[in-house]
Amino acid sequence: MTEWQKSNWRDKPRVQMPEYTDPEALTAVEAQMAKYPPLVFAGEARRLKQHLAAAGRGEAFLLQGGDCAESFEQFSADAIRDTFKVMLQMAMVLTYGAKVPVVKVGRMAGQFAKPRSAPTEVKDGVELPSYRGDIINKLAFTPEARIPDPRNMLQAFTQAAATLNLLRAFSTGGYADVHKVHQWTLGFTESEKAARYREMSTRIQDALDFLTAAGVTGDQAHTLHTVDFYTSHEALLLEYEEALCRQDSTSGNWLAGSGHMIWIGDRTRQPDGAHVEFARGVLNPVGLKCGPTTTPEDLKILMAKLNPKNEEGKLTLIARFGAGKVSEKLPPLIKAVQEEGAKVTWVCDPMHGNVIKSASGYKTRPFDLILREVREFFGVHEVEGTIPGGVHFEMTGLDVTECTGGVREVTDEDLSDRYHTACDPRLNASQSLELAFLVAEELVA
Ligand code: PEP
Ligand code: MN
Repeated sequence: MTEWQKSNWRDKPRVQMPEYTDPEALTAVEAQMAKYPPLVFAGEARRLKQHLAAAGRGEAFLLQGGDCAESFEQFSADAIRDTFKVMLQMAMVLTYGAKVPVVKVGRMAGQFAKPRSAPTEVKDGVELPSYRGDIINKLAFTPEARIPDPRNMLQAFTQAAATLNLLRAFSTGGYADVHKVHQWTLGFTESEKAARYREMSTRIQDALDFLTAAGVTGDQAHTLHTVDFYTSHEALLLEYEEALCRQDSTSGNWLAGSGHMIWIGDRTRQPDGAHVEFARGVLNPVGLKCGPTTTPEDLKILMAKLNPKNEEGKLTLIARFGAGKVSEKLPPLIKAVQEEGAKVTWVCDPMHGNVIKSASGYKTRPFDLILREVREFFGVHEVEGTIPGGVHFEMTGLDVTECTGGVREVTDEDLSDRYHTACDPRLNASQSLELAFLVAEELVA
C-alpha cells in the first residue's frame, strides 16, 4: 500500500458527497480552513483511544449520543447544556449498572453532514436535490436552498468551535445538578416501570450521599465534579475533514482535527472508497457502522485497512441491524472478528435500523423497538462470550416528540407537537434517561 496522504481519498470513488458548482469558492474555503487551529488535539484523541480500549475489554462502557444532525438554526447554548446534562445523568445510571467508568462521547461539534437514501426528494410533483445537512445545503424546499455551498463549512467550523468551548467549560466547571438524582425521575408517571426507575435512583443517590458523608475530598471529589467528554461525528464531507487534518508534532502522525472520534457510515464503507481511504490514515479512534448488508468478508478487509496494527481502542464496530435481525446478523461478524484475532470495541446503535413511518406520516422510531435491539445485542454477546462495549443513541436534552413510546408516552398523534429534527427522530430527555435505566438493568442482569 502506498504511503497515506490526507488528500489521497480524492483518487477514490466517492459516494454521498456534494458536487460543488463553484470550484473557486471551494478552494478558497479549503485554503482558509487549512490555516485554522484544529478543534481537538492528538493527546486527547489518544486518551479516548485508551478509554475505548478499556470498553472493548469490559473495563469501561461507551455512551455515545447526540443529534442525528446538528443544525445552524437550532444552535443554542441551552440545547448543548441540556444534551450534555442528560448524557451525564445517563452516564451516572449506566455507571451504576455496569460498575465500570462510562466514556462519554457526544455526536456533537461536527455532526453536520448527512448521507441520504436518495439523491433527490419529490414534494407535490417537484423534484429537488436532497438536503444533506447544514454544512452542505439548506433544508428549505427551494432550488436555491438545495445548491451545495462550500461557505457553509466555515459556519460549521465556527459552530463546532463554540460548541466545544462550551463543552470544555461544562466538563471542568462542575455540574452539581447531576448529583440530585431523585429530581430526574420527577417527570415520570406513577407506573410500575417508573417505580423501578425511582428505586434505582434512590440507590444511586444513597451511594453518592455516602461518599459525601464519608468525606471524599481532594482529588477524589474532583473526579466527581469534572468529566471527560469527547466529540465525534460521521466523517462524510471529506473536503472539511482534509482541511482540518493536522500532523501531530510529537509523533508525526496525522490527526483528524475535526473531532476526537470519527466514524464511517453504513452507506460509505466501501472498502475501496474515498471514506475508508481517508479514515485509514488518521490517528483518531475510528468507528465503523455495521449494518444488515455488512458481510464477514468485507468486515475482514475493512478491519485490516482501518486498523492494520491491530491497536486496541482504534476500531469501534457500531452494530445497527434493526430489532429482530441482531441474532442472525451479528454472530457471523463476531466470528469474522475472532477469526482475524482483531481487537475491536462492539457498540450497539439501536436507532438506525428501527426507523418507521408513523400513521400520521412522520418518520419515527418506537421506543420498544430501540430497547428490543439493545437487548438482542446484549443477548448475542452473552451467548458468544464477547463484550458489549457501549451504546450509541440519537438523542437530545430537549423535550421533543420525535420517537414514540416511553413511560411519559409519546403517541403517534403527539409527534406533530414538537417534531424539530431536520433529519432522524431523536429520543427526548425523558426517553433517553429511561433507556439508560433499562440498559443499566441489562448490565446488572
Ligand atoms: C447516522 O449515524 O446518523 C447514520 C446515518 O447512520 P448509518 O450510517 O448507520 O445509517
Ligand atoms: Mn441518523
